[in-house]
This record gives sequence, C-alpha cells and structure tokens, in this order.
Amino acid sequence: MLIGPLAGAAPVLGIGPLPACQILDVPANPGPNDDWATTLLDWSFTVGPDYKPPDLVSVHKGDLGGGGLVRQVAIGGLKALTAAARANGTPLEAYAAYRSYATQTKLFNDGVKSYGYDAAITYWGRPGHSEHELGLAIDFIAVGDTRISSEFESTRAGGWMAKNAWKYGWLMSYPKGKQSVVCLHYEPWHYRYYGVDLAKKIHDSGLTPREYLWAHFTQFNTDLSPLATASPSAAPAPTASVTPAQTTLIETSMGAGATLPAQPQPTRAATTNTAAGGPAPADVFTIVLIALAAIGSIASVRYLQRRQRLRRR
Ligand SMILES: [Zn+2]
Repeated sequence: MLIGPLAGAAPVLGIGPLPACQILDVPANPGPNDDWATTLLDWSFTVGPDYKPPDLVSVHKGDLGGGGLVRQVAIGGLKALTAAARANGTPLEAYAAYRSYATQTKLFNDGVKSYGYDAAITYWGRPGHSEHELGLAIDFIAVGDTRISSEFESTRAGGWMAKNAWKYGWLMSYPKGKQSVVCLHYEPWHYRYYGVDLAKKIHDSGLTPREYLWAHFTQFNTDLSPLATASPSAAPAPTASVTPAQTTLIETSMGAGATLPAQPQPTRAATTNTAAGGPAPADVFTIVLIALAAIGSIASVRYLQRRQRLRRR
C-alpha cells in the first residue's frame, strides 16, 4: 500500500519503511507531552512506566456512559461522537478507558498467565505500550452490553462507529486483517482520539494509524534507543546503516518510502556506541560522513545522497 500524498506536503521526518512488529522499549518520539496526537505506541515504542497524562477527566464529561478516564483534550471530540451516536439510535458507553502502567502490568500478566505470552502481546500489549496509557483510547460498547466482543463489528453501534468515528476525531487502532501491520489483534471496540483534522487525514490516506504516524511523524534518536533490553529477538535484523549520528532522521517526501533503501530496517542494534557524547547538530553531517566511510556501506551512501538531494529541493 502506498502512502497517499497530501496537498502541499513538504518533506517529512520518518525512518524509512514501516518496521516489522518488534519487541523493543524505545521511548516514543514525539512523546505524549510534546504532541499527544502524533505519539506512536506499538510493540517497540513506549511511554515508559512513569508517564501519567496531565489532564485526565471522567468520560462522563464527554457525555459518555460507562466509566473511566480520558484526557481533557479528547473531551470535545468525545462529546461530538457521543451525541452523533445517540442521534443515530446507537448510544455508546465506555467499557474501559485510561489505564495506568500498574493496571496495564496486571492486565498483561493476567493475560500471560491465562493465555500465554504470545497471546498477551497481541491482545493487550505490554505495559508502557498500550494506547490506554495515553488517556486517549476508549473501548466502546453499545449501551446495554456488558463486555467487549468481536461481535461488536456486526452490531449497529459497531458498524456505525467503524464508518463514522473518524469524523469526530476517533479511529479504530487495530482493524480487521491488519495484525501484521498494527501488531495487535483485531479490536473493533478500541478507538483512539487524534483530533478531527489528523483523524481525517489518516482516514483519507487509507492507512492504519500506525502506518500513518510512522510515515509522517515518528522520529528515531539513536541515543534514546537501547535495543531490546527486555527481550532480545532471536534473529536480529540488519543493523541500520545510518545511525552513527546522534539523531537519525531520514528525510523523505510523501510516498518516497518505497524508494528508500529497503534493507536497513531501522532496528536499534549496535547503534549506541558511536553516539556516546553526542555531537552538536552542526557536526552531525561531518561525523556521518566519517562513520559511513569507515563502515563502507553502499546503502548508507545512497541514503546520504538522497538526503542531500532532498535538502536542495
Ligand atoms: Zn482497548
């Protein structure tokens, strides 16, 4: 699937092709305090154990039944969604909303105990990696339902949500048939708030939120990326070849992902040594050149040439 170009789009920050779902603990960047709407959490990116949203309020403030907390920034969109669903004759309730790291830990551990680790990482997500910890996700049920269920998709409420929630700033995070892309199992009840403008862009792109955030916003700082400290993967992917500089941001235009070197999947292996001490941004380019010469990586040189070309545009 290609990334649809946006009108007047300038080169954006990204890190190349969407990486496979990998168990890592890389601090999310942008983080939720910088720009909550563009924070990507997945198997790799985390808000860590200490993050707590600064403006949690009851979902009731968004006129939604059920229980739980969401961020105040989502209340306007929640009110609009709730009212529209009610007007459609399919009123909604919150089954679950904000979860603390501690709550997510308990949920995850219970999941591991009952269903095993592989199931738990696809159904709940590891602590620190759940969108519920952002205070921006809600598990919706129809009024009268008592549990979340995949049958939600075939109910009137679930069908209405899938078709209309984006108009009010909400998107289904884990759509059907997209597990290999979004890492988590299909969850027709789980929606995250992005604000109306960004939700529309993501919806119109035809991409999942993870793909869109990755392609347009996600940044990767090598010195912030301890690789797989928790669970090293059995077969490490090739080391990214563009990482000697302190900050690795591949500049690419919309849709250019397909033309970037496909091989260097941005993993975090063996990238931290040369970043120690952190060069000043002005020196980054020089250091990259030296490092690349040492590495002798053709792919890296190509990348650099491309980056320069883009800069000249
Ligand atoms: Zn959920």
